[in-house]
Amino acid sequence: MTSQTCTCQCGQTQFTVSGQPKLRMLCHCTICQQFNQAPFADVVVFKTAQVSVPDKSSIDFKTYKPPPNVNRGVCQHCQQPVIEFFDMPLMPKLTMVPAAMFAVQQSLPKPSAHMFYEKRLTDADDQLPKKQGFLRSQLAFFKYLWFGH
Ligand SMILES: [Zn+2]
Ligand SMILES: [Zn+2]
Repeated sequence: MTSQTCTCQCGQTQFTVSGQPKLRMLCHCTICQQFNQAPFADVVVFKTAQVSVPDKSSIDFKTYKPPPNVNRGVCQHCQQPVIEFFDMPLMPKLTMVPAAMFAVQQSLPKPSAHMFYEKRLTDADDQLPKKQGFLRSQLAFFKYLWFGH
């Protein structure tokens, strides 16, 4: 099992992830836009057990809109989005890490799809599947999660 260190741009927030991510996706939902201050989020999804955050004291957590209950954290010092904990009943606990947190981008899988594409601010110039609407985006998320990317 390989492990990787994730670091924010100022270096105050650091944690490690181990093993392969479950999936990577580009999410255009309005909460991701707001949280990332960007047209969409590029996030890598792990089981929470794969993620080790030794010190959460530099992270400011905020819950945007339950449900689903996603606890999103930014670095207190540089305000960069650093981690998102996804905790839903009857689901494995998941953690989403922005792709920008990884030092070695080549180690990441390609994104599986665009999610909530109907909320996009800019059109995507790629061949990835584009999932529109809450239901289709959620179904695609769980499909990639269970059956791989
Ligand atoms: Zn989103
Ligand atoms: Zn920082």
